[in-house]
Amino acid sequence: MSKYLFLTGGVVSSVGKGVTAAAIGKLLKERGLSVSIQKLDPYINVDPGTMSPYQHGEVFVLDDGSETDLDLGHYERFIDVSLSRVCNLTTGQIYSNVIARERRGDFLGGTIQVVPHITNEIKSRIREVHEVTSADVVITEVGGTVGDIESLPFLEALRQIRSDVGRENAMFVHVTWLPYIGATGELKTKPTQHSVRELRGIGISPDVIIARSDHTVVESLREKIAQFCDVDRKGVIPLTTTSSLYEVPLLLEAEGLGDNIVNRLGLIPTQVPDWSDWEDLVAQEREDRPKIRIAIVGKYVELQDAYMSVREAVRHASLEARVEAEFLWVHSAELEKDKGWDELKRAHGIIVPGGFGSRGIEGKIAAAHYARENQIPYLGLCLGMQVMVIEFGRHVLGTEDANSTEFDRNTSHPVIDLLPEQRGIGEMGGTMRLGLYPCDLVEGTLARTVYQTESVNERHRHRYEFNNTYREILAEHGMVYSGLSPDGRLVEIAELSDHPFMIGSQFHPEFLSRPNRPHPLFAGFVQAATRRDKLQVEEVAAGSSALK
Ligand code: GLN
Repeated sequence: MSKYLFLTGGVVSSVGKGVTAAAIGKLLKERGLSVSIQKLDPYINVDPGTMSPYQHGEVFVLDDGSETDLDLGHYERFIDVSLSRVCNLTTGQIYSNVIARERRGDFLGGTIQVVPHITNEIKSRIREVHEVTSADVVITEVGGTVGDIESLPFLEALRQIRSDVGRENAMFVHVTWLPYIGATGELKTKPTQHSVRELRGIGISPDVIIARSDHTVVESLREKIAQFCDVDRKGVIPLTTTSSLYEVPLLLEAEGLGDNIVNRLGLIPTQVPDWSDWEDLVAQEREDRPKIRIAIVGKYVELQDAYMSVREAVRHASLEARVEAEFLWVHSAELEKDKGWDELKRAHGIIVPGGFGSRGIEGKIAAAHYARENQIPYLGLCLGMQVMVIEFGRHVLGTEDANSTEFDRNTSHPVIDLLPEQRGIGEMGGTMRLGLYPCDLVEGTLARTVYQTESVNERHRHRYEFNNTYREILAEHGMVYSGLSPDGRLVEIAELSDHPFMIGSQFHPEFLSRPNRPHPLFAGFVQAATRRDKLQVEEVAAGSSALK
């Protein structure tokens, strides 16, 4: 039987509940326990795959091809386990399942209601995580904050699970926020008290309160929260904002949360936590490291959460290379209006991340053009690879008309075109080429050098691909197909021979990067950007005017 840890949020959203869930997973994993983490999202979309990144940030893709909330990215990066489709559940999925069963007649004429039909469905989908993963502990995080109308059925389901499995097998952790009043210089606990009262009103009393704040929580405040919220003192865990996400498990461990959970749930750890790796990681992050500047050229740059995994992957690679990446967020649509170029030109490396639709696409193509002509390290991620091919196609074919049919249906040179299996698909949700696919790495290429292996599996999310009609002509001019599907049919990685590091992957390597295991493509890219930085420093020292 599994043990359950339920995580709710109070007061306000965006206080790092996802990272806290991930960090709690890490506390348990360090004790040799198997963990899985699930996110319940109260919105009615079936998954975030069709949502704008402005609404929701990045869409994180799992091995099995499910398109999920970006918190699953935190979970995977912290506990280093490949999660499954069952780990992200939305109200949309619950209702569409229940309604489909009603249409089939499964309810034998009954009236379908939120309680018990919707709550039962939620309960079975939480239990399913254990059935699929056999994890010792299932952590379930409820999106939103207590008091939201939409999350009520989820909370009711959690309350019922606790009484079904017994208090010794399920616990509640409530993450709240302590606002700081500048005029008096105080942190306030009242909103926390209210949110706990709200939770109590629906029959849930938290075992642990994680009190987030931007300022140090003094002991007396901790006591006050314990008293007013009826939680043990050791159950009140202050968690002050930290500059390093990866420090969160260390902070929670220092407050005794790991042992508290283990005791409370009667878990039997099989190992003593060894935090040395993570302590090193955080220490390195704090170290004064040489800076490199990485430009991210996208169309959602105002909302950096849209590129969460890309940013983290660059950070992981930078830690390994002992440099610090400063991000230059460049809006691709601005480049089209001749703005933002000064910023782009400061970069030691340029990333064009994934994306959809034609807005800003010419700006991305211009950024790839600049990177190619000026020998600036370039990493293209999915759309970024397609952009690199379009730009090179225009250069080789001598026409501005080369394009992807995503942006110009009638282009005379569709260097990027729909995947054959995508033709005739009308539905938008969950219909792309999604999830893990194998990719063979061609000997003698840059990709093979950075990966140091013959074959890899990588996560995909796209409808378009490299058009094989153009393979030969582009190869004649220096494009190298360094990653191919095992049948040789699909170009999965392309690179340029006449360039220090210009490489694009049709997949999303950022999803598989881990803090202690940077992804090889990002590692190679950051090293190339670091070399670029050194080159610039040398050129300046030599008074060279060749610097572009
Ligand atoms: N829009 C492109 C496609 O569908 C790229 C997708 C992406 O970058 N994830 O193929």
